[in-house]
Amino acid sequence: MKTNKPFASLIFFLFFSIATLAQKSSLVYTVKMDNPEWHFFHVQLTCKGIKKEFIDFKMPAWTPGYYQKMDFAKNLEQLKATDETGKELKWEKTNDNTWRVSSNNSNTVNLSYEIKTVRPFVATAYLDETRAYILPAAVFLHIDKMLNHPVQVIVVPDSKWNRVATGLDSLAGKKFTYSAPDFDILYDSPILVGNLEELTPFKVRGVTHRFIGLKLGDFDREQFILDLKKVVEAAVNTIGHIPYKNYTFIAIGSGPGGIEHLNNTTFGFNGSNFKNRDSYIRTLHFLAHEYFHHYNVKRIRPIELGPFDYDKGSRTKMLWVSEGLSVYYEYMVVKRAGITTDAELFNAFRGNMVAFENKPGRLYQTLEQASYETWSDGPFGRTGDEVNKTISYYDKGPAVGLLFDFKIRQVTNNKKSLDDVMRFLYKEYYQKKKRGFTEEELKAAFELVAGTSLNEEFEYVTTTKELDYPTYFNYAGLAIDTTTQVLPGAYAGFTLREREDSVFVANVDYGSPGWNKGIRRGQQVLKINGEKATVSIFNKTIASARPGDKIVLIMSINNVMTDIEIIFTSKTEKEFKITPSGNPDTLQKQILEGWLKG
Ligand SMILES: [Zn+2]
Repeated sequence: MKTNKPFASLIFFLFFSIATLAQKSSLVYTVKMDNPEWHFFHVQLTCKGIKKEFIDFKMPAWTPGYYQKMDFAKNLEQLKATDETGKELKWEKTNDNTWRVSSNNSNTVNLSYEIKTVRPFVATAYLDETRAYILPAAVFLHIDKMLNHPVQVIVVPDSKWNRVATGLDSLAGKKFTYSAPDFDILYDSPILVGNLEELTPFKVRGVTHRFIGLKLGDFDREQFILDLKKVVEAAVNTIGHIPYKNYTFIAIGSGPGGIEHLNNTTFGFNGSNFKNRDSYIRTLHFLAHEYFHHYNVKRIRPIELGPFDYDKGSRTKMLWVSEGLSVYYEYMVVKRAGITTDAELFNAFRGNMVAFENKPGRLYQTLEQASYETWSDGPFGRTGDEVNKTISYYDKGPAVGLLFDFKIRQVTNNKKSLDDVMRFLYKEYYQKKKRGFTEEELKAAFELVAGTSLNEEFEYVTTTKELDYPTYFNYAGLAIDTTTQVLPGAYAGFTLREREDSVFVANVDYGSPGWNKGIRRGQQVLKINGEKATVSIFNKTIASARPGDKIVLIMSINNVMTDIEIIFTSKTEKEFKITPSGNPDTLQKQILEGWLKG
């Protein structure tokens, strides 16, 4: 009995210390946006109970979902640190995104700083007269090695604004006050403030889904919400489980791009653009993509994508799954929601195939390389001449997804599909193992579902082997036209743009007549057929020319005047038109039907 006593009190002491430590340390942010026309946020942080000689505060270099270094730290200005008595504390920057505050063991450290904002974009913070978009990774510092500390955020909206939209939990009884259990959740939860409109919320499997946004535009709100609900239902039916308590679609204003989060997505939106069915379907595909990401990338994820490295970025070779297959499912989900026709579905895939197949990058870069290199290439591939040596996993990814799906259906007598692979990854890695998967585990999951080796199909991921569309489409009784078509008109293979009074080469197709004569992006064009060069003369010349005609340019290349004569040819392109083939057998019929209906 005696021997146990000191041990018990030690346990009690330890427990008590941890409990009081947990109780005492707190991080509370207040974000103010007075004078929104000045475009900067005023941020205050009160840290209590973190007694240290010094504290390293850090700003992420990127935000998950947008695979580019953003260097958010450069927008932080006017940093001031004080202790509980108001005495100023010294600080110094120890690297690009770290501020070391000499806190001298004081119980309270107050920081205040400003975040300058420059442009409205889904992957940056922005403030103007109409809205505040708080991208947390660009606004909130975290303490080094304390990413798992809980945090509170108090938003003080500009007096003209009525509403805050965010996926963060509200703190009961406190207006515009939110909490996150750790910084991963905080950095995953953007906050939109303004005079926002909320459309009628809807429930799927008893869970509430909201759509809130800024200047939503002029469109049929009722029909849109009906369709969006069907899209969410189709996505949920694909995986079979809803992992969140509520979900919010947050429309941040017009502009490109969207980013996925665990229980919300933020994206550019303007309902006035729904002028025709194509643009409406494009928007539904886009929203289906962002929504499906809450499964595929936020939960069904490559092992490298969590915990995130907020300093260096998290590279993976599997973005073809996270992004490419999210494109695949954006089409499938909208189709299975009963919104698009078969022809519209085929056409969506056709668009990616044409984009991928008619560019030379397919002979240089594999899907794995494109995933891994995206940090230097940008998410949509490189620009300039390098564009010829890279591919986009947004194009090849869905095409390879199709081949995998048809193959799995064929070898399992249509008993299994790509959906089963996604469900397996969700259950096995997200729900059971609570982690991401390695490349080997991913391949094993595909092969487990197929019940056979998929070595040949994985070569489409790891090599630049040409995709054999006809064989795989035939499994579903579909024909695909892979013949090369000669397009009408004359073809030079490059475009021009004007800057002030000068004309420059904009884009050049690899292997085109212009390319073969040494025309490259950025070169200056002085004369076209003896006349002063303009974009309009160039376009008119091409429009009236025939293959075999020529155009004479005087160019300035490295400051040397150069005459270049180009003979027009015809442009050739593979169309990849998809049609049902005649007389399908029973399995082909079943595969097509199963694929279309899910
Ligand atoms: Zn995406």
